Amino acid sequence: MDLETTPASRTGESLFSQALEHTRGRSPASFEQWFTSIQFEGFEHGVLGLTARDEFVRDWVKAHFLPDLLTNLGRLSGEPSAALRVTWNISNRLTRPVCEPKRSAPRPSKPEPMPASRRSERPTAVPRYSRSQFLATLNSKYTFPNFVVGPSNELAHAAAFASAGGGGPRYNPLFIAGGTGLGKTHLVHAIAHKVLEERPDARVVYVSAEHFTNEFIEALQHHKMDEFRARYRSDCDLLLVDDIQFLAGREQTQEEFFHTFNALHDADRPIIVTSDKYPQQLQRMPERLVSRFTSGLVADIQVPQLETRVAIVRKKAEIESIPLSDEVAVLLAQNIQSNVRELEGALIRLAAKSSLTGRPIDEEFTLSEMNTVSPRRTDIMSVEDIQRAVCSHFRLSNSELLSKDRHKSVAFARQVAMYLCRQRLKCSFPELGRAFGNRDHTTVMSAVRRVEALRQRDPQVSAHLEAIEQRLASSED
Ligand code: ADP
Ligand code: MG
Repeated sequence: MDLETTPASRTGESLFSQALEHTRGRSPASFEQWFTSIQFEGFEHGVLGLTARDEFVRDWVKAHFLPDLLTNLGRLSGEPSAALRVTWNISNRLTRPVCEPKRSAPRPSKPEPMPASRRSERPTAVPRYSRSQFLATLNSKYTFPNFVVGPSNELAHAAAFASAGGGGPRYNPLFIAGGTGLGKTHLVHAIAHKVLEERPDARVVYVSAEHFTNEFIEALQHHKMDEFRARYRSDCDLLLVDDIQFLAGREQTQEEFFHTFNALHDADRPIIVTSDKYPQQLQRMPERLVSRFTSGLVADIQVPQLETRVAIVRKKAEIESIPLSDEVAVLLAQNIQSNVRELEGALIRLAAKSSLTGRPIDEEFTLSEMNTVSPRRTDIMSVEDIQRAVCSHFRLSNSELLSKDRHKSVAFARQVAMYLCRQRLKCSFPELGRAFGNRDHTTVMSAVRRVEALRQRDPQVSAHLEAIEQRLASSED
């Protein structure tokens, strides 16, 4: 299908572009990532034609971008989004992708086992460390089976699994970006565990960027650069670098890392990097490194949704043999939202207190502990912070949010803000009524209930909430 230049199709294209802008705004970095592999073919009579580079891209865009895109397209074209249809083509020759690929971005390649020649030419294990010493640097609980997969982390998980030879397209490098305590280190350790389980002789190097820096400085001081380079280049089959943001402003280490990266990449050895920011947001990082980081796949980890958090709490309780009812799992997950490490900490703390005091971990005990467990968020977050995040997400002004405007989209944003304030700040309904342009407390109550119910059944609504929660989480760091 090719786009014809009739007036109708031109209108279709401009409607599509406008709809895309909104979708792009929700997650610019990952949008660019995926839409370099998507081409627009046409939008006429309620049918949107798209071409994807491969099935993997098609399925991902379908699941993660299409609902929002169709809602916008429906709104702009005046047709109900449920009535819109999408036709897909698959082609690896895209002449007009929606986003231009960055420089020489390599195409995803199918997973490749390590060349046998390379495997056989080397002796064993990780240089400098014995295998058991190396394994001791990994957390034995950070494995794939112990990682709970949900919408917030499924891309990062799938890509990490593929990097470990688990199947699916392997991207090199894989850049995992996500806020603190959301599972980045867990995933890279899981890669190391899996690779070493299946190929015990693989030379896996896991290092934090900080450790890499310290080793580099030490090697310089003691004239041991040859050893250092061997460890990270010739003697390395797979490199895992955690918290790359640490290299910010460290020019000499950046330079060394750049050459390390190129040497491994040229030899097609997997490089996996984690960071608390997207590559483009890394401060004081040279452009050439940033462009290397974006040349494979950038997979982000977002704040997990309630269902995923509940599953994580259950999984942790199972691993630690902590008896936990479903009600308490939900209670914990509802109260600690933006950091899995904190969620886990709360559980461990409850278990410890319970065994010390002999009290069972029931709802009453959990509730009474909750304030001590997680006082930070509520202390520093205010109604205004939440209103600001909601306004910027929905592109509204604060006065619109607080106005009497009953237009559907403004009213929805307002209800979302009320819900988030209630949930996160535990404000009373009358208090919230006052903070939202002197509204009656019953209005706030029904808004909170409505959003609560919608969140459970409408993926669009839960996507909005997640995006705002992510915004709030990053403003807290
Ligand atoms: P980060 O490196 O992103 O700061 P970590 O990988 O250290 O975060 O994760 C913090 C804690 O949360 C770890 O104990 C990890 O096991 C746990 N965790 C995070 N995400 C998940 C998940 N999806 N499933 C299970 N545990 C998780
Ligand atoms: Mg970490």
